[in-house]
Amino acid sequence: SADTNRNCSIKVMCRFRPLNAAEVDRGDRYIPKFQAEETVVIGGKPYVFDRVFQSNTTQEQVYNACAQRIVKDVLEGYNGTIFAYGQTSSGKTHTMEGNLHDTDCMGIIPRIVQDIFNYIYSMDENLEFHIKVISNLVSLSGSFCLSIYLPMCVRECVCAHTGLCVSLRGCTERFVCSPEEVMDTIDEGKSNRHVAVTNMNEHSSRSHSIFLINVKQENTQTEQKLSGKLYLVDLAGSEKVSKTGAEGAVLDEAKNINKSLSSLGNVISALAEGSTYVPYRDSKMTRILQDSLGGNCRTTIVICCSPSSYNEAETKSTLMFGQRAK
Ligand code: ADP
Ligand code: MG
Repeated sequence: SADTNRNCSIKVMCRFRPLNAAEVDRGDRYIPKFQAEETVVIGGKPYVFDRVFQSNTTQEQVYNACAQRIVKDVLEGYNGTIFAYGQTSSGKTHTMEGNLHDTDCMGIIPRIVQDIFNYIYSMDENLEFHIKVISNLVSLSGSFCLSIYLPMCVRECVCAHTGLCVSLRGCTERFVCSPEEVMDTIDEGKSNRHVAVTNMNEHSSRSHSIFLINVKQENTQTEQKLSGKLYLVDLAGSEKVSKTGAEGAVLDEAKNINKSLSSLGNVISALAEGSTYVPYRDSKMTRILQDSLGGNCRTTIVICCSPSSYNEAETKSTLMFGQRAK
């Protein structure tokens, strides 16, 4: 199926994390059964995806299958989006970010940053790159921008630009010269967010986190230009509101999130079916992502699941969301 789907721009991957200590202590059962590389069976029902990752899959294997191709396309001027979807604690942030500073545990975002730097350093010296990274687009209070500007001459003396900061629409824009500096800036952005939000875990599970990498290239001899945009989206937890025991303003926020996730599901299934009408305008997130979904764009959804019997109902509803996109 990998071959027949080669030209299809939407890929749906499914990743199961291992049982965690609390689940093992409670005596939960490990429920998924895997068949070949595309099928997972839960309660006798098979769910088929472009690829299914078992609990022991490494961060590198996930990157190679989910992101490498999209990054290549973005460097060739296409737009793309990678989503992680699933209930809270299913492994979305582990998949998208992982540990930013540990070579083995790095998730998709730090690996993309590394790949882009490797690409820049391997390219023709007439190419000028301007890469802008914007983190946390949705909740603007914690957003920051980060610019990587690598013109030919700067490549010789990149460090001269370290620490150069300018302010842009309330975000910090700065020039960075290495993947490590990008990770440090992401950390800084996160600790700023910690100050603003008292319970970070609770907050992050109830909001979407959108990370944008915009790569612009110009060949200074031919004046040929290329621009590609890549959105990396760690979606809010998809669990049912009833299970969270939320009330008042928190309940309203949770309903909003459920509504934006179902709008996203509607947009993706309309794209997967090739519908002429795609309801992009139904939510703020799908409006933001509009020019990076569908058409010539590359989209990958990573459906993240807990393997525990305790979460079986949520896992089935997560798998159904993924099936709608196929
Ligand atoms: P989410 O972002 O969906 O709420 P997290 O990514 O924070 O979930 O994962 C919850 C916990 O499970 C974290 O401690 C994370 O390190 C761990 N975890 C998630 N996925 C894996 C995995 N594939 N292998 C090992 N640990 C994982
Ligand atoms: Mg998370």
